[in-house]
Amino acid sequence: MRKPTTILITIVLLVAVIIFLSACQGQTPSAPEKSTESKTLTIATSFYPMYLAAINVAKDVPGVKVVNMTQPTTGCLHDYQLKPDDLKTLSEAQIFVVNGAGMESFMDKVVNQLPNLKIIDASKGIPLIKGDGEEGGNPHLWVSISNAIQQVKNIGLQLATLDPDHAAQYSANTTAYADKLEALRAKMHQTLDNAKKRDIITFHEAFPYFAREFNLNIVAVIEREPGSEPSAAELADTIEIVNKSKIKALFAEPQYSAKAADTIARETGAKVFILDPVVTGAMEPDAYLKIMEANLNTLEEALN
Ligand SMILES: [Zn+2]
Repeated sequence: MRKPTTILITIVLLVAVIIFLSACQGQTPSAPEKSTESKTLTIATSFYPMYLAAINVAKDVPGVKVVNMTQPTTGCLHDYQLKPDDLKTLSEAQIFVVNGAGMESFMDKVVNQLPNLKIIDASKGIPLIKGDGEEGGNPHLWVSISNAIQQVKNIGLQLATLDPDHAAQYSANTTAYADKLEALRAKMHQTLDNAKKRDIITFHEAFPYFAREFNLNIVAVIEREPGSEPSAAELADTIEIVNKSKIKALFAEPQYSAKAADTIARETGAKVFILDPVVTGAMEPDAYLKIMEANLNTLEEALN
């Protein structure tokens, strides 16, 4: 005969098993998480200047993560081909911030493969300078401070619409960063408006917006895109232009081979300076401001 305590333990165990089983049955498979605290909004950016704008606009917004799709050493995205890793990055994001104006020529593929990804076009409403050839507008908008400010505002407004819970913070961040950019623009005007020389020769089509903003005159563009070294005839033409114009400053870019500039410098006696279109650099919020300050110092030296 069993002891009463053994019977009691058996009953308790049976009840526990029944409760456990019914709890398992009652549970709906993969119930959605109710918690909003742990919700993450991932914002992907296409390349370096968009990343810098986005980390400023989304600064300290709870649950928001900004990732750059390309390496910070990629530079401009002309003819860039999407890699499987890029599509993986985008598939994990809810929002994709692009420069627009034709810089991201792979957008058809993105829209086709990821129809739910929300696109923020930073160039919205900004008038374009005609590009070289038949490619449409020049996409290097961010190189002008005024356009950079407009791009930051565009990103701020569109983020506030897509993530309305944090609209006030996006707005405050946008204003704070735009104020810094406006102060930079004022400082650059102060220095460059009185520069003695206004004619410059640059590399690749990155500087027309910048030149227009500060009333500089791009006399020649030596090498239009990375990897396309100028032909002997183009080099000879440029050497002639430099000699005729008596331009003493050539502006190469840190991302491009300075070979052509060195040749021209040797043939003309002009000096090669480095002007940075902010397409590579440190992944920190003040990087755009620092690079432009360095450009300002270079131009002050080169144009006076
Ligand atoms: Zn470019």
